[in-house]
Amino acid sequence: MNKCTEIRENSSSGGVFYELALHIIKQGGAVCGAGFNKSMKVIHKIVDDEENLVDLMRSKYVQSNLGNCFSEIRGLLECGRTVLFVGTPCQVNGLSSFLGKRYEGLLLIDLICHGVPSPIIWEEFVTIMEKRFGSKCCYVSFRDTSLEGWHNYGMYMEFENGKSYVDTQNNNMFMKGFLYGYYDRRSCYACNFKGLNRKSDLTLGDFWSVKRYLENFDDNKGTSLVFLNSVKGKTAFNSVRDRFDFKVLSGGDVLKYSGAYTNSEIDMENRERFYPRYLSGESTFDIISAL
Ligand SMILES: Cc1cc2nc3c(=O)[nH]c(=O)nc-3n(C[C@H](O)[C@H](O)[C@H](O)COP(=O)(O)OP(=O)(O)OC[C@H]3O[C@@H](n4cnc5c(N)ncnc54)[C@H](O)[C@@H]3O)c2cc1C
Repeated sequence: MNKCTEIRENSSSGGVFYELALHIIKQGGAVCGAGFNKSMKVIHKIVDDEENLVDLMRSKYVQSNLGNCFSEIRGLLECGRTVLFVGTPCQVNGLSSFLGKRYEGLLLIDLICHGVPSPIIWEEFVTIMEKRFGSKCCYVSFRDTSLEGWHNYGMYMEFENGKSYVDTQNNNMFMKGFLYGYYDRRSCYACNFKGLNRKSDLTLGDFWSVKRYLENFDDNKGTSLVFLNSVKGKTAFNSVRDRFDFKVLSGGDVLKYSGAYTNSEIDMENRERFYPRYLSGESTFDIISAL
């Protein structure tokens, strides 16, 4: 848990990504992670200052568009810059394959990943909400904790006319469809990048089962689970460890209660029930509320 409550509030869980990213930026490096463009599409971007880092914080529950990031990262590494790349395990594997060799200056972080929802369904949801609120959406948090804290987080949206929306995950149509796996990317239902054999130096997740191990580490404000997968990952964490309250646990114990780390948890049957109806013209709202 980051010692700074504000950083945890602006993160998905314990604010580990922020500290590692800030450390890289302060050393003159660049950070590549998922943020939003002006139309609220989720895209990977490269930043090298603290101000722009804020957009990369928090999980976005949409498959992000990597654009030209891989080529740009290779260009930076070839010029001797340090780069932190954060993404889903498949994106980290993709970058590693693209580069074809390990660069000393590259730090790779992947996430415990439930799966990534369809960008088309997300864009439709934004359009529906913009119609409902009569204005363009200008800010989204998929990890709002203002209503019921970290354990029952929700979605928050802001619109250009000053109106805002907030609701918990179970009352939000888009989040409900995501959590039950109605419209994740097909490959997420049998993910090839689960388990211990990771290309990343660190793996970050929400430590949902923290109470089982460390009762006083669950204050409903966000606690991270951090896997240190390589010497580089350990060195990176050690350089920011003073910023955290943390405990070292045995990986074997923790894995028992971190299902999405080892298994694809979403159910293909839900996707198969959703898409025929969606493709025949029914609205996502109607299908999800009836399922
Ligand atoms: C789609 C998705 C599914 C997840 N599923 C689980 C799960 O089932 N169980 C679990 O324990 N944890 C899951 N996580 C990870 C978790 O939500 C947090 O990202 C993690 O705890 C790190 O938190 P943090 O506070 O350190 O960093 P944060 O500030 O939350 O930073 C998160 C990092 O993830 C990157 N990111 C955000 N959205 C995306 C995206 N769509 N694609 C690629 N990278 C992205 C950001 O750029 C940032 O670098 C998931 C994350 C995502 C994006």
